[in-house]
Amino acid sequence: MTLQLKEKTAWDNALEQFDIAADILHLDPSISRIMRKCQLELTVNFPVKLDDGTIEMFTGYRVHHNGARGPTKGGIRYHPDVTLDEVRALAMWMTWKCAVVNIPYGGAKGGVIVDPARLSLRELERLTRRYASEISLVMGPDSDIPAPDVNTNAQIMAWIMDTYSMHKGYSVPAVITGKPISMGGSQGRREATGRGVSICTREVARHLGMDLQGATVAVQGFGNVGSVSAYLIHDLGCKIVAVSDVNGGIYNPKGLDPREVLRHVAATKSVVGFPTAEPISNAQLLELPVDILVPAALENQITALNADRVKAKIIVEGANGPTTPEADVILNDRGVVLVPDILANAGGVVVSYFEWVQDLQAFFWDEAEINANLERIMVNAFKGVIAMSEERQINLRQAALVLAIQRVAEAIRLRGIYP
Ligand code: NAD
Repeated sequence: MTLQLKEKTAWDNALEQFDIAADILHLDPSISRIMRKCQLELTVNFPVKLDDGTIEMFTGYRVHHNGARGPTKGGIRYHPDVTLDEVRALAMWMTWKCAVVNIPYGGAKGGVIVDPARLSLRELERLTRRYASEISLVMGPDSDIPAPDVNTNAQIMAWIMDTYSMHKGYSVPAVITGKPISMGGSQGRREATGRGVSICTREVARHLGMDLQGATVAVQGFGNVGSVSAYLIHDLGCKIVAVSDVNGGIYNPKGLDPREVLRHVAATKSVVGFPTAEPISNAQLLELPVDILVPAALENQITALNADRVKAKIIVEGANGPTTPEADVILNDRGVVLVPDILANAGGVVVSYFEWVQDLQAFFWDEAEINANLERIMVNAFKGVIAMSEERQINLRQAALVLAIQRVAEAIRLRGIYP
């Protein structure tokens, strides 16, 4: 009889990261018991009529991890591999992320098991509106505010806002963020996550005394987060030598112009086939001899199986959960400096927070003001994490988690347990 080892899920990894940080903090076990659970987990199975008249059933989720610090916040993912455990992990990471950057939100996440590339635009709209309707019980501008994530975009946010507003009988722009600017979206939101990644890249290089002029960078994933990170890090003076998407990667040791790659993607839907670059696989990209690696695709990319072959000196996590706890140990032992997801990719939720504030006030700011506030919040958060890491002699992931968990624990303690 062979023993099948169960593969660890993102939720296993999120709990393991939490337990390490809770140990460092000597966290009260009662608070730990609260934090190790998601407070609300909604599963919805719903029908969608396809263009050919047939009816298909879909499954979606909306999970609130913890709302002690405020309404819950987190994106909606459309992907065939979505599971309840993945959504739980992403919701927990949102709680820590909002606390690290000190914005008044708890954490949530949503997802639908679907490959949106296989749906027509009208089918995608019907699926989105039905899912929005199903989860409208647990979302609202004062309770839970979704946003874009993998395979969802401003158009999908517009349909969700419209569906919710139709139920209410009046427009509720603050129910969701990442909307188009013409209907209550914010300047700077589209670029915000990548801008935060580039700010963290600049700050960590400054902290380590690394010169970014000509520093080499590989970026895995070339969607919203990866592509914007790539061109803004390029603007810092770095050389982007490789990028990739779900179809594969491209590599040119002399450097790529990410904006040209974006034009190629707009024309062909993939980075693959970009002229003046050689093809590489996603696995090869992670192991390239570069100074900085930005994983900006999905979870579980840097694991115990490849962490010892990662050559980058710095990893800035654009994606959520790209590095497993086992890989963290290997990288840490090898002296690789890792800026964790809950700090590195927090720029998106920070500008989502600005969008929500603007919608509630019906008073909008210009892009310069948005970017200046984002810069201030990201740099403060980065400095707070560095200070915690120096004070407790722990790595940056542990420091960010400790800082976040402390803040959430304080809110839980002060609010007390109802009744
Ligand atoms: P996206 O859908 O815009 O892009 C995802 C990219 O990853 C695409 O280029 C896709 O081809 C690629 N990809 C998918 N599967 C892959 C695989 N197996 N190997 C390599 N590449 C693959 O999504 P996004 O919004 O850019 O999100 C990317 C990551 O960033 C996710 O982990 C997400 O949770 C995280 N994130 C997103 C935001 C945001 O504001 N959109 C904010 C914080 C964190």
